[in-house]
Amino acid sequence: MHPVIVAHGGVGSGIEYKEDVVSAVKAGYEALLAGKSALEAVIITVKALEDNVKFNAGYGSYYNLAGEIEMDASVMTSDGRCGAVACVHGVKNPVLLARAVMDTPHVLMAGRGAVEYAKKIGLEFADLRSEKADKKLAEVKKKIREGYYPQWSEKMKNIDLSEYLGDTVGAVAMDMQGKFAAANSTGGISLKLPGRVGDSAIIGAGIYAGSEGAVVTTGIGEEIIKKVLAKAVYDKLAQLGAMKACRWGVDQYDEGIPVGIIAVDKKGYGVAANKQMAWHVLP
Ligand code: ASP
Repeated sequence: MHPVIVAHGGVGSGIEYKEDVVSAVKAGYEALLAGKSALEAVIITVKALEDNVKFNAGYGSYYNLAGEIEMDASVMTSDGRCGAVACVHGVKNPVLLARAVMDTPHVLMAGRGAVEYAKKIGLEFADLRSEKADKKLAEVKKKIREGYYPQWSEKMKNIDLSEYLGDTVGAVAMDMQGKFAAANSTGGISLKLPGRVGDSAIIGAGIYAGSEGAVVTTGIGEEIIKKVLAKAVYDKLAQLGAMKACRWGVDQYDEGIPVGIIAVDKKGYGVAANKQMAWHVLP
């Protein structure tokens, strides 16, 4: 079977992200052509995007409102195997930690325990802070007028979170054996309370894969979780095909809620977003 891989640079990411997404997709595609699995390919692609400071994943992740980096990531394959991490800090490539969780009896590991596990298995740690994220935090804080607990959690109810997303990364692929895989990674929305977990770590919400294909989403995690979006789109793959299934998924939201979806199935790929989104597919 001819392999295919698609990746995105987050709903809201502009044209200036396109080339970086293209080169990450190329790396994943070369791996597929060399006979590597869909899982290996999506990890190669997502890792390249995590290592690129432009994206809100790994190095370059946005901070929570306490100025800390807390990242979510996940992976899933056709055979239903999956692994995810939530609220992890310091781990250079959260997608590799999500992959490692797949080999444990667990599905989702969070916070301190997940970070300890990363140390135990020898994953790389790095200072992931960036000037870009420093600036973003300053902007966010200005916008909420330096509010504090618990007052600003009250205020948050009325805040339009769509202004605070962007540059999350994800990839889906089918390999030469016709097997599917998906991977996701994010620093989350830039206006978030410490401890907040988005869709990227939640199997079924931000990611899903099975015998029909693979799906990843980007957008306001809270809204994506409520609609269990990746699984809902996955369930439409057989009937609609990847392209229409992605469009159907985006159409479940009002325009004011930014959402992007990419998918692969047996016949091709799908991409849909209700806002600009840098993405690329190969071949
Ligand atoms: N879905 C991510 C989250 O809510 C953000 C994004 O896709 O930009 O954490």
